[in-house]
Amino acid sequence: MQPVILWYRNDLRVADHGLLHALAESGRPVIPVYVLDDEAGGRAMGAASCWWLHHSLVSLAASLEALGSRLILKRGDAAEVLAALAVESQAAELHFGRAYDLYQRKQEQAVQQAMDALQVKLRTENTTLLLEPWQVKNQSGGPYKVFTPYWNKGCLPQLEKVEALPAPKWLATPESWPQSDELLGWPLLPTKPDWAGGFRESWKAGEAAARERLAAFLSGAAKDYKDERNFPAVEATSRLSPYLRFGEISPRQVYAATRVAQAKQPGWSKGYEHFLSELGWREFSYNLLYHFPAFPEENFRQEFDDFPWVEDDGALTRWQKGKTGYPIVDAGMRQLWHTGWMHNRVRMIVASFLIKDLLIHWKEGEAWFWDTLVDADIANNSASWQWVAGCGADAAPYFRIFNPVGQGEKFDPDGDYIRQWVPELARLPKEAIHAPWLAGPALLKQANVELGKDYPYPMVDHAKARNAALEAFKKLPKRQDAA
Ligand code: FAD
Repeated sequence: MQPVILWYRNDLRVADHGLLHALAESGRPVIPVYVLDDEAGGRAMGAASCWWLHHSLVSLAASLEALGSRLILKRGDAAEVLAALAVESQAAELHFGRAYDLYQRKQEQAVQQAMDALQVKLRTENTTLLLEPWQVKNQSGGPYKVFTPYWNKGCLPQLEKVEALPAPKWLATPESWPQSDELLGWPLLPTKPDWAGGFRESWKAGEAAARERLAAFLSGAAKDYKDERNFPAVEATSRLSPYLRFGEISPRQVYAATRVAQAKQPGWSKGYEHFLSELGWREFSYNLLYHFPAFPEENFRQEFDDFPWVEDDGALTRWQKGKTGYPIVDAGMRQLWHTGWMHNRVRMIVASFLIKDLLIHWKEGEAWFWDTLVDADIANNSASWQWVAGCGADAAPYFRIFNPVGQGEKFDPDGDYIRQWVPELARLPKEAIHAPWLAGPALLKQANVELGKDYPYPMVDHAKARNAALEAFKKLPKRQDAA
């Protein structure tokens, strides 16, 4: 029987994979393949994502082997590689999960053309979202641009019965396997230097780890998620983002398991509902990305196009390295560098600081996150950066400027998060840790901190920077609010 090629993309799992499930049921021989396409339609993966991808592929290969199958690895232009594989293996069909961004859609079009030329049939499905962007329409048939009606009216009524598919038990194999690259031959892991020590301590990639994390969250932190999710020193969120990004767990699995947990534990509904609404923000970002494909590159609100952004490489580097002199900002940037992940509240704080205190373009921040986050996600990252900048759909207004001291005091009241990531300030008491430059010389001496040597003075005066930002943003043409 002619085999079917299953092209793995952003759905690196065997459970709740509709295409894999159907192929297993049909008994047709399957060639699962992952293609490392360095061009990736114009946006290559960042370094932290490459690290995650390596481990994710190790895990997927093991899961497929447990089903009697294999994972074939190929590197090169996706359309060329898949066409050559189709010829070599005499495949009748190519199946893959759909993508929603401009870059991967371009890649899909090239693949489609190559397959048409070979008369290889395509089958595509949604393997990464709860609902595809075209399934959620507002009353006038267009896409929603505001989150709350999108989720409450557009999505939730369509999500009454979400069930995840089990992993297949067995997969039929082709008569002969095509040749595969060696994963270790791919340039995914850092070598000189090996900066991934903190990543290894923080994460275990793969489907099984994702399921464990979800189960632990649903039976623990979910209870107080709504109240505690903003406190970065508390393990109050699921940390499922990289698993969702690479599709090691599907949003349908997360949604279905949350509803089951909620039925058993209705008293925790506030936490479960809020958690699901965050999954809704992920869907909303994909909805925006699909309908407005330029989202990762261009301001959604064009009135921002002439904003006089500051170009200052020195300031950008201080922000990237966590040396701004604002402890909560520096803690976040160092958590990101060390672990490849940052708490959501702190992401908002550091983004606001870059955009509004330093007046540096949101795209610089987006690019740094793209390179350093293990969960770097084209939809969530661009939508969130534009949201903080005020130029996105349903975005925070420009005058919402986070005070980095006030945010630290409110969301890290004891300073524990700062102490973990900015150890040079660890001995300062909580009253002084958020603004060490205001602590008197005696207190600084007692805590062994010499400002300007052990820890920098603040690189800008927040009050002045805030006023400058407000002045600059006020000059923007009036905002046209979206429906
Ligand atoms: P939980 O609170 O447990 O939420 C569960 C899931 O919901 C997350 O895993 C994620 O998939 C989704 N989610 C949660 N918050 C958001 C949100 N605000 N927007 C969209 N989806 C959300 N998230 C990414 O996955 N990739 C990114 O590249 C990314 N870049 C960001 C950049 C900025 C400037 C900001 C402010 C936020 C960004 N986020 C991004 C959103 C959010 O910070 C992370 O999804 C979240 O911190 C992941 O932690 P968690 O899995 O513990 O989340």
